Amino acid sequence: MIPSRVDIAVIGGGPAGSLTARFLANSGYEVCLVERRSFPRETLCGEFISHEVLETLKECGLDPEFHALRPAHISKVKVCPIRGRAVTTDLGFTAFGVQRGVFDRMLLESAKRQGVQVIQPADAEEIVRSGDRFSIHVKSAAGDHTVSARWCVGAYGKSGALDKKLGRGHVAMRSGVNGVQVHVPVAVLSACDPGEVVLFSGRNMYCGLNIVNDGVATLCYLERRTSHDLPLRARFRELAAVNPGFAAVMTERGHGAIASAAIHGTGNIFFGRRDVVHNGMFMVGDAARVIAPLAGDGIGMAAQGARILGSVFGKRRRNAMTDDEMARDYERLWSNAFAARVRHAYVLQKILLSGGAMRVGGAMLRSFPGMLGAAVRFTRSQGSSL
Ligand SMILES: Cc1cc2nc3c(=O)[nH]c(=O)nc-3n(C[C@H](O)[C@H](O)[C@H](O)COP(=O)(O)OP(=O)(O)OC[C@H]3O[C@@H](n4cnc5c(N)ncnc54)[C@H](O)[C@@H]3O)c2cc1C
Repeated sequence: MIPSRVDIAVIGGGPAGSLTARFLANSGYEVCLVERRSFPRETLCGEFISHEVLETLKECGLDPEFHALRPAHISKVKVCPIRGRAVTTDLGFTAFGVQRGVFDRMLLESAKRQGVQVIQPADAEEIVRSGDRFSIHVKSAAGDHTVSARWCVGAYGKSGALDKKLGRGHVAMRSGVNGVQVHVPVAVLSACDPGEVVLFSGRNMYCGLNIVNDGVATLCYLERRTSHDLPLRARFRELAAVNPGFAAVMTERGHGAIASAAIHGTGNIFFGRRDVVHNGMFMVGDAARVIAPLAGDGIGMAAQGARILGSVFGKRRRNAMTDDEMARDYERLWSNAFAARVRHAYVLQKILLSGGAMRVGGAMLRSFPGMLGAAVRFTRSQGSSL
């Protein structure tokens, strides 16, 4: 049954939405979550799960369920530049590879068990603030419905019609940067190390490769698209032509698998600043800010953002805090946790998206391999933010 009145409505059932809803329900709030798609659903992602995510899962007691998904364990990162030898370094932590379809479903199911009322599949079409309440207009197969909520959390991802309807400032921005992902069976690749995440640079693009669960490998690239660019799948063949490291991994069977695989993609991904609180609505995960994917930390930010927002609402429950004080507290904690990380990842991404810079970068990495380790550290959490 769809509730008519709740304390908090969360829009979006990705990692940010499910974990935020779970933390809020755990603090005693009545929470509903609206998710557009039926799960399990695939989504554009390299499916590299950083160690920060596991910390949050442990806090929620979800680590046994996570390990039951049989994720790949990843402890090294390798960078294959356009020319020259590859450079490999230890990540300094254990990360994981797991398909988002099963991972996101696990998180949403755990939110349900925590008492979150999940409305799915259902589209939050419009959100209207009136005084100190929000009306969320929800469309589902059962018809149209309005949920009234004291607070509203935006966890609806990097872009969507809601941004425009809410009048968020960044919607007019065009980045020209696209993301594309495919799954292929590991068996069609050669020399693919399950303990490694590999980054290949190409012409105005970089591509990540790691093994996930169930004998599947995830290939995911980010490209600066120009009007002369090839169709999305053909970019993998072009990458093999310019990058010997990628050519060594991709067999003809690999290219064949890509040709018939389902492809997930998004255009015009905006990496710039967004409002973390918009007209009283708390944004979390990609809705608050998108980190450059090479950091492999978007899910980590979603999880940590959920913890931070949960802590703000937890304080509200214990002390009398106005909505403005909550907003300022969240913005401050969010910025302390993420602002530097997002900036560093963006600079590194600019280098990788520029083929010329990557040739220089590749030579530098070979001379100073410690730089790669430093780059990994700069794009990660530097300890607790709460
Ligand atoms: C190319 C690329 C590669 C990446 N690789 C990695 C990686 O390897 N590791 C990593 O950690 N991060 C990676 N990321 C980032 C990561 O995918 C995101 O940071 C993460 O998914 C953010 O989670 P989220 O919950 O904020 O949003 P999402 O996962 O996008 O979830 C949002 C949810 O909201 C729902 N929704 C949207 N609008 C509505 C609506 N109006 N009503 C109801 N529901 C709605 C959607 O259906 C979706 O389920 C990558 C990103 C890109 C672009």
